Amino acid sequence: MAEYFKDKVALVTGSASPRGLGRAIVNRIAKEGTNIVILDLNPEAVQKAALEVKNTYNVKTLGVACNVTKEADCISAINQVKIEFGRLDFLVNNAGVLKDNLLMRITEADWDMVIDVNLKGVFLMTKSASKLILKSPTGRIVNISSVSGLIGQAAQANYSSSKAGVIALTKVSAREFSGRGVTVNAICPGFIQTDMTDALPDDIKKKLSEMVPLKKLATPDDVAGTAKFYLGEDAGYITGTVLRVDGGAAIGM
Ligand code: NAD
Repeated sequence: MAEYFKDKVALVTGSASPRGLGRAIVNRIAKEGTNIVILDLNPEAVQKAALEVKNTYNVKTLGVACNVTKEADCISAINQVKIEFGRLDFLVNNAGVLKDNLLMRITEADWDMVIDVNLKGVFLMTKSASKLILKSPTGRIVNISSVSGLIGQAAQANYSSSKAGVIALTKVSAREFSGRGVTVNAICPGFIQTDMTDALPDDIKKKLSEMVPLKKLATPDDVAGTAKFYLGEDAGYITGTVLRVDGGAAIGM
């Protein structure tokens, strides 16, 4: 297994934040010797993260500033990967945003923004990366959806719709790329402790964890292990699937 990850190239979107899920996934596979492309919005943050990962795990890294809602940015990002590494084995579509409100109060701008980043962003990155990743003997794509996309969370019409769309897109890409042996799978996390959810008051977080059958919230590392499984050798015959990593929050879905 150690040899499998070594010297491959992974691009993880939304991976600059040191406390986010993207970085936890990066850390898991960089530890095994995979070279890493850190992709995120802020140019300084991506360079900082790329340097930290390089120094910590002694792998090659590339920091790419990219807005996943812009096709030109996504194409340019993949061109940089081609020039730097000449290959791409793993794509993790992790970048995402929230803009919660009751359906009757969601503005058109907040609807568009969430759908653009969470759904169109996955489409554009997958499309831009497809030619390169289809050449990999072990091409793998992992899309980060959410249990909100399965159950439909109140006050998340935009977010839940975008994440349900990611599940459909995962299944379509899995079918289209299967002829070249590239697998595409989706992970549906429940509630993870990251910057995205830190803004919630402590009493709400407590209530949320009590609602989870396993009675605790996930750490980014709880979810990163599942991403590593999907990218790994043992998942080579698994494609088009959706796996909940939610402490049982959406049992039955
Ligand atoms: P986070 O806010 O810590 O990280 C998201 C990253 O995406 C940030 O670094 C941000 O800069 C980047 N990003 C946002 N818009 C972008 C754009 N247009 N182009 C490029 N990068 C962009 O959030 P997180 O909690 O680590 O979330 C990671 C993923 O997990 C998201 O897709 C999120 O929807 C999903 N998720 C999170 C939770 C949770 O409870 N935190 C639950 C289920 C699913």
